[in-house]
Amino acid sequence: MKKENNKKFYIKTIGCQMNKSDSERLSAFLEGNGYKETSKRNEADLIFINTCGVRQSAEDRIYGLIPGIKRENPNAKIILTGCLVNRTDVRRRIEGSVDLWFPIVDLFNLDKELNKIWDINFNKNDDNFSCRDDYLKVSPKIDSSFSALIPIGNGCNNFCSYCVVPYARGREKYRPVKEIIKEIRDLVKIGYKEITLIAQNVNSYSSSSTDFSDLLKKVNDIEGNFWIRFITSHPKDMSDKLINTIATCEKICSHIHLPAQSGDNKILEAMNRKYTIEHYKKLILKIRKKCSLKKFILQEDLLPVSISTDLIVGFPGETKKQFENSKKLFKEAKYDLAYTAQYSPRYGTTAYKLEDNVGKKEKERRENELLNILKKTAETNNEKYLGKRVLVLVEGKNKKGFYNGKTCTYKNVNIIENNKKIEKGEFIMVKIIKTMDFGLEGVLI
Ligand code: SF4
Repeated sequence: MKKENNKKFYIKTIGCQMNKSDSERLSAFLEGNGYKETSKRNEADLIFINTCGVRQSAEDRIYGLIPGIKRENPNAKIILTGCLVNRTDVRRRIEGSVDLWFPIVDLFNLDKELNKIWDINFNKNDDNFSCRDDYLKVSPKIDSSFSALIPIGNGCNNFCSYCVVPYARGREKYRPVKEIIKEIRDLVKIGYKEITLIAQNVNSYSSSSTDFSDLLKKVNDIEGNFWIRFITSHPKDMSDKLINTIATCEKICSHIHLPAQSGDNKILEAMNRKYTIEHYKKLILKIRKKCSLKKFILQEDLLPVSISTDLIVGFPGETKKQFENSKKLFKEAKYDLAYTAQYSPRYGTTAYKLEDNVGKKEKERRENELLNILKKTAETNNEKYLGKRVLVLVEGKNKKGFYNGKTCTYKNVNIIENNKKIEKGEFIMVKIIKTMDFGLEGVLI
């Protein structure tokens, strides 16, 4: 039986989809034990900060956030979780301001840990306490009513030289197929329309002789009208089998996120990415060739697969010539979207020992050059949508009061129509009447 208490909690999530999903589990776990979630930080008894350590800027947000919380709500207990929990340098810096450092994988010990700082009554009979071996077994409190993030595993074995994730999240551990399928089937039954499988490297999923391609096929076989997305793929593990599965399964969206990180082989080697740029470019060609011929429903027009990437500029030692190779990659790959970042040294990683010798201004200049190329390729790609009929999953309304949503190719669409009532999470057919670099406009058909 659920115990009630008057205590409220607030969760601040910084960072990636995995952190967002972890927060959904944390929230469900606390509510299962009688706590109430509040959106007001100043009325919370417990304030959880789910941290990200991937970039210095994300880390700096924590240093700015905590003094603000202390001023606004001095009695609240501050609990820090996420990527920064095990960082000794971060602990030294803000030790006195944090009441509890809590690794999310220890979710089932939250009661014991909180007891150290808080007079707490957890309900040991709650279902969530019966599966203590893996925190991913906790049923999440999903934020959206139509789109769900499904972690298929946690951790990373790759140790890219700039990345903190393997230190923060540990080695790869994957969930059993049955558990994943059950979670998705239950969500589809209650009307979820978009299922995004997440892990640090989905392509290396493996559980009792099922690989990621097999898992995708099983998800595709679940009855219902829904889309399947997945992030993140590692180019070294993107097999032909997987590309064929993406090309042939009708529910898998025509959008692939394939982080390149650099366009230069020497830099890729220093990053410990374990592929060459030639291999990466071949993958792009294969994906474009095989996955562009998809058609979800008969009335939809055919459009090319969309491809996005992550790329770091100013990795230690990156010369102007090596950066030119990243520019060349952007021109050749013709990305639809890219998440670029200026390199920042991450404590504890291999690259941390290297001299961060590309200046801030130069990093900015390099990033802007890439963004200028991206704007052009994205705009050209989007022009192909003009006059085409596309299926859009409605996400809500934008600031101007128009409905908006996404295509299966992950394009943002504003729907120029506000008379008809459209529900969030509804699939609608739209004719595109205007294209921009990072968006489309359409009318209801
Ligand atoms: S694959 Fe590389 S960049 Fe991605 S999480 Fe693992 S170590 Fe980090």
